[in-house]
Amino acid sequence: MRQYEMIETRETQRKIKKIICNKCGREIPTEKGEPRADFLSVEKRWGYFSEKDNQVDVFDLCEECYDALVATFVIPVGE
Ligand SMILES: [Zn+2]
Repeated sequence: MRQYEMIETRETQRKIKKIICNKCGREIPTEKGEPRADFLSVEKRWGYFSEKDNQVDVFDLCEECYDALVATFVIPVGE
């Protein structure tokens, strides 16, 4: 989950204020709007052949929650 602050320059820009893991709620550290820890960022627009036609789902996971999620996979993550 991202929280942004709007910055007024010649064009209004969005700067990341906070990145929060959707699963555990912990904050992913940022410095000057840039992440200081790696994390998984997902943005998925569901298509016609789904139950969520055109719905856009966005979430972020910290590395620890990512590790816990992929540990449940029957087939391990590929390279
Ligand atoms: Zn997490």
